[in-house]
Amino acid sequence: MDTVLGDTQDMMQCPRCGEITLYPNEDGDGPHKGLNALSRRDNKTYICPDCGDDEAWFDFFMDRLEQRAELKGEKFVKRLEVSLAPQRMLERMWLVHNKPLNEILGRPWVPYMNRLESIHRDREGEEYGEAQS
Ligand SMILES: [Zn+2]
Repeated sequence: MDTVLGDTQDMMQCPRCGEITLYPNEDGDGPHKGLNALSRRDNKTYICPDCGDDEAWFDFFMDRLEQRAELKGEKFVKRLEVSLAPQRMLERMWLVHNKPLNEILGRPWVPYMNRLESIHRDREGEEYGEAQS
């Protein structure tokens, strides 16, 4: 009954990032349903809090990019879909392969917040290039 926040000795592996960052439940036989996040990808798998944030930020940025593309027209929407397809695939890969991203990639998972900024910049650059041509 003594779940101590920050006590890492019995932490479990997060099924998404693969780090030992998943809080165990009080019996230690599964993930804690309050301290972890429910994955937005399948609505049934518990992932670590950082991965929960990561999925939320991913969706936030994807929505924003889509809205911007819609304002610019169908051509931009189609182009955005193509350029974001690999990101969307990667986002679900841990579920598809049933193993964490750090095993699939062979390196630690880098949260989307760190990489979306550069994607966003790339899109802006492309859109400018298109507008000027
Ligand atoms: Zn995680």
